[in-house]
Amino acid sequence: MENHSYRVLLYYQYVPIEDPEQFTIDHLKLCKEIGLKGRILVAKEGINGTVSGTMDQTETYMHTMKQDPRFADMVFKIDDESGHAFKKMHVRHRKELVHLGLEDDVNPLELTGNYLSPKEFYDQMQSDDTVVIDARNDYEYDLGHFRGAVRPDIEAFRELPDWIRKNKEAFEGKKILTYCTGGIRCEKFSGWLLKEGFEDVSQLHGGIVTYGKDPEVRGQLWDGQCYVFDERISVPVNRVEHVVVGKDYFTNEPCERYVNCANPECNKQIICSEENEHFYMRGCSHECRVHPRNLYVKEHNLTEEEVNLKLAKINKKIA
Ligand SMILES: [Zn+2]
Repeated sequence: MENHSYRVLLYYQYVPIEDPEQFTIDHLKLCKEIGLKGRILVAKEGINGTVSGTMDQTETYMHTMKQDPRFADMVFKIDDESGHAFKKMHVRHRKELVHLGLEDDVNPLELTGNYLSPKEFYDQMQSDDTVVIDARNDYEYDLGHFRGAVRPDIEAFRELPDWIRKNKEAFEGKKILTYCTGGIRCEKFSGWLLKEGFEDVSQLHGGIVTYGKDPEVRGQLWDGQCYVFDERISVPVNRVEHVVVGKDYFTNEPCERYVNCANPECNKQIICSEENEHFYMRGCSHECRVHPRNLYVKEHNLTEEEVNLKLAKINKKIA
């Protein structure tokens, strides 16, 4: 039996917070008192967090938050886990909860796309006049996505508006559906699409995480895994079938294992098997493999001779 005595909470709320700096300080104190670990962002427009803790700790946190009228309706997505998903507790003050980098910001409380339940999203996604846009980054898409969804070629959310403008023809006159991990990015992105002149814009309410838990759709039409921003790296979504869409960075073989490039100055996330991690010294390029601070070399106490032997094997294989 697996021990599911821990839980991970994922949540957000767009709601005005008067003094976000002070709120940040108080909130960190609260989380530390409870014993939670995680990452929470606070802005004058609201709160967005992922925290982990025991059953009791997470229960106390949710109860405490709901006493505050601003967060009384907050939806917590709950995952049972066997341990913490973070090493530390951070609460940070930011200008925006999600950074779209807009010259003229969108307030989701005033303007946002239609909310679709998982079942509504599942149905609409399959209609012909619909285009599904993944509102996440390319490396998140590559590990898993809705079947047939558009993959914006972006490494950060703030690049999305430009990318949409450049590819406008693909979406004009279509029913647009957007989705992201927990729903927070789509609140803003779908509002921006409306402001940009697209007329029929809907978003998956509660995001992929909610979709995967829905008892009716059970994550269907999702391929791969869902990337998450904590130590778990990914969580399952589709509970009916599991199609692997991730591809090994080195060999293109089906793979769902993410690692960071061993060069700390690169730190790029690459999908690769354990075997290839060892073969390529977890380096995404020759430069990263021979970088003086390569962490793989350090972790495995490789001598210069051993590194050179590995490099020779790699060169032979690439040649
Ligand atoms: Zn690298």
